Amino acid sequence: MPAGFASICCMDIIMKKQADKINLIQKYKQLTAGKDKKQLILMWSTVLVCTLTIIFVCSCIIYTVNLNKTPNTLHTRFDEANQKMTNQKFNSYINSLINKKPAGNQQGTKTAEPEKGNVKETDKTTQKDNASVNKTIYKGVSTTQAAITFDDGYNRKYVEKVLDILKENNIKSTFFIIGKVLDDYPEVWKRAVNEGHQICNHTQSHQILTNMSDEAVQAEISGWETSARRVLGDDYLTRMKKEFPYLRLPGGGGAKSSRILKIAQKNGYKVIGWNVETVSSVINPLKNKKSVSEISDKIEQHVVNNCSGGSIILLHFNQYDMGNIEAIVKGLKNRGFQMKTISQLIK
Ligand SMILES: [Zn+2]
Repeated sequence: MPAGFASICCMDIIMKKQADKINLIQKYKQLTAGKDKKQLILMWSTVLVCTLTIIFVCSCIIYTVNLNKTPNTLHTRFDEANQKMTNQKFNSYINSLINKKPAGNQQGTKTAEPEKGNVKETDKTTQKDNASVNKTIYKGVSTTQAAITFDDGYNRKYVEKVLDILKENNIKSTFFIIGKVLDDYPEVWKRAVNEGHQICNHTQSHQILTNMSDEAVQAEISGWETSARRVLGDDYLTRMKKEFPYLRLPGGGGAKSSRILKIAQKNGYKVIGWNVETVSSVINPLKNKKSVSEISDKIEQHVVNNCSGGSIILLHFNQYDMGNIEAIVKGLKNRGFQMKTISQLIK
């Protein structure tokens, strides 16, 4: 083909393409100028529907993929966590956190035992073992009496406040005080005993007993007795072991463990639990959501409304339980309950 003819053909093609482009642009301009609005609306509607359809389909695919994936991921993580940390260690860890002594002036934020049953028992227990050991006592049988008990003993100011209120209302109570805390202000505990209250074993250093060897558990129980003997005297300890030999397990840990209960029994103790408490029922769920006074109001309602005949109520010397303590005592009295020591309640 001659070179001149080829270049003419190429030019012709280029010219035609240019003409097509111009036609398209003109056609679009005609459309956008409103000459054919129906076609314009139809075109954009089609684009919109297609876009929405694509987005919807993509969302469905992503959702379906995640739906299939998430549970497996969670299960895998849960299994991994289980492998790394047994239930016992986990519960003990949680309990060690909530039972940690507050630093400095933050007394009162101390929280302790979860309600019975919250501490999972992991010691191997057989029915035969259970048959030979005294079980934890959670309540008495009286329909008109209840026991208000106080644990740990941190915060001297609150302890003295409670002693004043109990005295004014002529109520005797049972205190489960940590051995080390007995040494912190002995005169206060002597006053409690002189005013007719019972001070009982809550172990020497408030560790979760299910984590410990038999020997270490024994040392915790005996250590408390040494502190009690030093602070309250030989006679008190002898009377206590004879008339009201009660032990409350730190964090409730071991309340259903035949191993722990056997060691307690061997030491002459009855293990005392509770059936009304405030830490896991009120304080922990509301701690970061409500003010201290609002939580104290809830505690007052909770304790007064949930107390029943034979109830063993567990309180701590913290700012929440102590906020309305006088109203709690009066509310229980107004409901007709006689407030007693544990030995009077369970005799
Ligand atoms: Zn405690």
